[in-house]
Amino acid sequence: MHPDEIDIIIFTHLHWDHVQNMKEFKSARYIAPKGEIEMAYNPLPLYYRTYECGILDIEPAYAGCVFEVIEDETEIVPGITMFHTPGHSVGHMAVTVETSMGDIVIAGDAIFQERNMEPNPAEMWRYWVPARFVNSYEGWKSVD
Ligand SMILES: [Zn+2]
Repeated sequence: MHPDEIDIIIFTHLHWDHVQNMKEFKSARYIAPKGEIEMAYNPLPLYYRTYECGILDIEPAYAGCVFEVIEDETEIVPGITMFHTPGHSVGHMAVTVETSMGDIVIAGDAIFQERNMEPNPAEMWRYWVPARFVNSYEGWKSVD
């Protein structure tokens, strides 16, 4: 599939490693959570590098792109819905895709790896919250 054939790109969040090459998709609508757009354009200094902030003389990959803003749980197209999963980042949202086999959740960085879903019985944890950039309370609730 050629990048020009992609008509919608949904961003779970706007960390640098999720936005590279987005300008290659010339026919796409860019859809992103409001909290992420706000943080990307006005990050805390702690996150300047994570959002490729211009204050560090880095041009973010999304410079000049126009996002469609999602504030709350929203059905983007029939069968594809975004919902809040904060913790890894301020505005992180996951995506549910309805399929004939059942719903599939694309968790983005709310769950980094399968290990995040393994329990830690010694600590009475049901799972591990990814620790990078995390708000532990929101991260726990998002994995839950
Ligand atoms: Zn991330």
